[in-house]
Amino acid sequence: MIPDEVDLLLADENNHYCPPIKGKVRSGYSFRRTREHQGIDVPLSTGDTIKAAFDGVVRYVGFTKQTGGYGNLVIIRHTNGLETYYGHLSKHLCTVNEVVKAGDVIGLGGSTGRSTGPHLHFEARYKGQTFDPSRLIDFETGNLRDSLLTLKKHYYSIYSHYGQSDEESIAASSRIVYSIKSGDTLGRVAQKYGTTVTAICRLNSISSKKLLRIGERIIVR
Ligand SMILES: [Zn+2]
Repeated sequence: MIPDEVDLLLADENNHYCPPIKGKVRSGYSFRRTREHQGIDVPLSTGDTIKAAFDGVVRYVGFTKQTGGYGNLVIIRHTNGLETYYGHLSKHLCTVNEVVKAGDVIGLGGSTGRSTGPHLHFEARYKGQTFDPSRLIDFETGNLRDSLLTLKKHYYSIYSHYGQSDEESIAASSRIVYSIKSGDTLGRVAQKYGTTVTAICRLNSISSKKLLRIGERIIVR
């Protein structure tokens, strides 16, 4: 069961935090072209050290052939139930069931898996559900946003992200997404959903002249 709201203690005198990496987020938690990007990407140099964000236990250590897009991946389970994912590593430096402290080096950054250049793909999950990791960490400064995170159900939507008000996040999470089929035009899709081409274009930040590709997903409402 996914609770409507849960308070996650992130840091206090007994629970530690360390930035897994510091840097500007290049690609955020969002729907990217045709697939969900369920974490954030921070560019790095291959071999940069990647650290455990919080105290916990290593739950998974996988290689590209098992993880596919993630490349070499480490997943850490934290005491508050949160899990953090560290993808595209060039090397693992931890083993399954190893107890780690925040700041322990768990791997080296790289570009394994589905990656166009060295970066860390960092994900945060609660009960298997992803949410925007920028709700936890300001990656540019490396600081925690707060010592406590109130995780709300609507945060698990790929359209919900840090910086939105609760109203915006709720609206975003209840969006209707349509997958383009052969023969579709924006006009036809708008008619089908009782909306207008202008409204669809505004929601997707696209031009009304945009060429639609089959399988492409657009927000209709
Ligand atoms: Zn990524």
